[in-house]
Amino acid sequence: MPKTVHIIGAGISGLSAAVRLTNAGHAVHVHEATQQAGGRCRSYFDAATNLTIDNGNHLLLSGNRHALAYAKSIGTEAGLIGPKSAQFPFVDLATGQRWLLDLGDSRLPLWVFDESRRVPDTGIFDYLALAPLVWASASKPVGETIRCEGTLYQRLVQPLLLAALNVDPPVGSAGLAGAIVRETLLAGGQACRPLIARDGLSAILIEPAVKLLQQKGASVSLGHELRELAMTGDRVTGLKFGNDEIAIGSDDAIVMAVPPRAAATLLPDLRTPTRFRAIVNAHFRFDPPRDAPPILGVVGGLVEWLFAFPQRLSVTISAGDRLVDMPREELAQAIWRDVCTAAGVSGALPAWQIVRERRATFEATPEQNALRPKAATSLKNLFLAGDWTDTGLPATIEGSVRSGDHAADLVLAMR
Ligand SMILES: Cc1cc2nc3c(=O)[nH]c(=O)nc-3n(C[C@H](O)[C@H](O)[C@H](O)COP(=O)(O)OP(=O)(O)OC[C@H]3O[C@@H](n4cnc5c(N)ncnc54)[C@H](O)[C@@H]3O)c2cc1C
Repeated sequence: MPKTVHIIGAGISGLSAAVRLTNAGHAVHVHEATQQAGGRCRSYFDAATNLTIDNGNHLLLSGNRHALAYAKSIGTEAGLIGPKSAQFPFVDLATGQRWLLDLGDSRLPLWVFDESRRVPDTGIFDYLALAPLVWASASKPVGETIRCEGTLYQRLVQPLLLAALNVDPPVGSAGLAGAIVRETLLAGGQACRPLIARDGLSAILIEPAVKLLQQKGASVSLGHELRELAMTGDRVTGLKFGNDEIAIGSDDAIVMAVPPRAAATLLPDLRTPTRFRAIVNAHFRFDPPRDAPPILGVVGGLVEWLFAFPQRLSVTISAGDRLVDMPREELAQAIWRDVCTAAGVSGALPAWQIVRERRATFEATPEQNALRPKAATSLKNLFLAGDWTDTGLPATIEGSVRSGDHAADLVLAMR
């Protein structure tokens, strides 16, 4: 029998649950607190650069199965664009050295055997030394699992894990790092092709989902913040919004796909991660050089990844907490200097915007990872979704979609 399902939060995890449940024939209502769907994965018009930009540059990999299946289900898989094979150009700003990491397109990590394709000045034994990460426990930090120094670490392991965990890798959870290594480096080039929503996150991953939901009869209410849950015994019986209240029938279900702080307010007994890390993005209105790669890895400077979009060069700096209080103009100048060297361009600071997401992700340390709850709760008709729930992955789009899919599957299995 079709159920009525209320999804709280229209970020990627809420939308993926909503799409799955709508496609399964259930009556779905999505409630989003803000005036825009997308949560931490959204686009908006920025007056400073006169461009539509994303809140943050989001990189997917071809091995992100659930994220790609989600994009396919909303008809936008082709909008995730990347090179034909898993090639990552890098530059070291300290030495000026440039190299191409070429993971090829195999299902096996054969590239490590080919000196011309792996990181320069590294040997096969450097890669084998990463093996302990593959089966590492989530309760151990990376720094106690592998050696966090040397050329391979500086040029590949550190940039990869910093981007994935959003903490300085030695303090990150080795279990989460291991999941990344298993699903990327170890899965061969076929799983590592970088993919970007070139036309914007909202246009590719958010708006088409909202449109599809509405076309199939689901409702998406913006500016509709859940303030309180009414409970009787082990069930939720009502949802209290600002001015209205919805009664929950005995067969109805709720997927709560809000960030951890909101979830803990609504469910005071819930254990959630309590510490977060920032990501800093800088956007410069500047036509990229014609041969600019879509994504360039940068080491030895402030910038970590440089993305080339039409009319825009854009930068990501993970674990950016040290930069959140730096004066904006000073930060823009410092980043622009790195961009000029990395991209081989010059000129005065163009129109720019800096977006500092203070709570971009939960802190992917062993301690915080241990606080992540399962999707099922003590309330029989309420399930959790979100990148911070116990997905086995760090806070990523792939983790969000997996959590949304899993919560939806629990609703489908509900009696
Ligand atoms: C700057 C930045 C860069 C990133 N880069 C990458 C990347 O390169 N690759 C990658 O895979 N991931 C990246 N991520 C992570 C990715 O964006 C997140 O993992 C993902 O968007 C989280 O989705 P979510 O649905 O779990 O949570 P959210 O996006 O936080 O969605 C939760 C939603 O719930 C709503 N809400 C809150 N309280 C209520 C309430 N009471 N009632 C109703 N609604 C409520 C919120 O408004 C929000 O819309 C990045 C994140 C940031 C911030």
